[in-house]
Amino acid sequence: MAGTNFSRRSIRKGILRIEALVVPPLANNVYILYEDGSDDALIIDVAQGANPLFERAKELEVRPSMIINTHGHTDHTAEDGLLRKMTGAKLAIHELDAYRLALDDEASKELGIKKEPIEPDIQLTSGQEIKFGKQCVLKVIHTPGHTEGSICLYDEKDRQLLSGDTLFQAGYGRVDGMGSDPDTMKSSLKKLLELPGSTDVYPGHGGFTTIQSEMWLMEMTE
Ligand SMILES: [Zn+2]
Ligand SMILES: [Zn+2]
Repeated sequence: MAGTNFSRRSIRKGILRIEALVVPPLANNVYILYEDGSDDALIIDVAQGANPLFERAKELEVRPSMIINTHGHTDHTAEDGLLRKMTGAKLAIHELDAYRLALDDEASKELGIKKEPIEPDIQLTSGQEIKFGKQCVLKVIHTPGHTEGSICLYDEKDRQLLSGDTLFQAGYGRVDGMGSDPDTMKSSLKKLLELPGSTDVYPGHGGFTTIQSEMWLMEMTE
């Protein structure tokens, strides 16, 4: 999809609303999900975007009840604690990446920050369903490879996938870091290929895509 150079986008799919913001300096995509007619919202990744996310939620007149991390890398989680304090939202991450919230990593070095170790309120497991608003449901798909506890979040009804650093437009997340595994990444991408082709994909960095636009996946997961 064109238009990778956006700073904010509002997407509407049925009753689901997705508000996408790009947070510097590592161009992290962070998201506010909510439902038409409800003030309940979810935040997907915070990065260093606690303030813009808080301000945007206020403008939209929604209240975040949960912050979900797609994985534990610091570029995605740096201001989790701050946004939790500002909103009172519960902080959730896959159980296998929970330890990373208390750990500085390569991304902390790149960002030049030392993070305050925090604990999640909720540890997610594969297949778990997260309900928000009155009808919206996100399903946790465990997609290890980039990290042990990387997840994608899938809205089956509207075919919307938040893919973190697992699947990007024309690429996938690095598999050479601590806790990465190239073979596991392959199986995770294969899992995503089983989703309907028309599924819209919202990654942790870069442009949006769809499953059917990423057919190179077929070859690489053979
Ligand atoms: Zn990452
Ligand atoms: Zn990342």
